Amino acid sequence: MSESEKRDLPGYEKVLGLSLEDKLYRVRYEVDRNRPHIKVNEAVCRSCTDKVCTSICPAGVYKLKADDPSMISVSFENCLECGTCRNVCEKEGIEWRFPDGGMGVKYRYG
Ligand code: SF4
Ligand code: SF4
Repeated sequence: MSESEKRDLPGYEKVLGLSLEDKLYRVRYEVDRNRPHIKVNEAVCRSCTDKVCTSICPAGVYKLKADDPSMISVSFENCLECGTCRNVCEKEGIEWRFPDGGMGVKYRYG
C-alpha cells in the first residue's frame, strides 16, 4: 500500500497526530495495584548499561528515573501486554506475568 493510499484510510491523520499519552488514554485497564504483574530486579537494572527496556516498550512503561538515572521506573499500569520487554531484556531483570483474570488491558474501544 502506498503512502498516499495509507493517508486515505479512515483515521490515519487522527491517529498519527496523537501523542502517546492521547493514545493510551483510549485504552481501558483494570489495574491491580495490589499485585503488579511486572517487577524488576533493582540490582540487575542498576548495573544494566543499555537499558533497552526504556526504548522498546510501545507504552513507555519503563523510564529512567529523573532523580536517579541509573535506575528505571516501571508504570506497569500502562502495560499493553505485548511481551516485548521480557524478550529483549537479556539480563533477565524483568519478572513478568499476565495480570490475574479480569485485570490488565482491555482491548475494546470506549
Ligand atoms: S529491565 Fe532489563 S533492560 Fe531494563 S534496565 Fe533492567 S536489566 Fe536493563
Ligand atoms: S509487555 Fe509490552 S507494553 Fe507491557 S511493559 Fe513490556 S513492552 Fe511494554
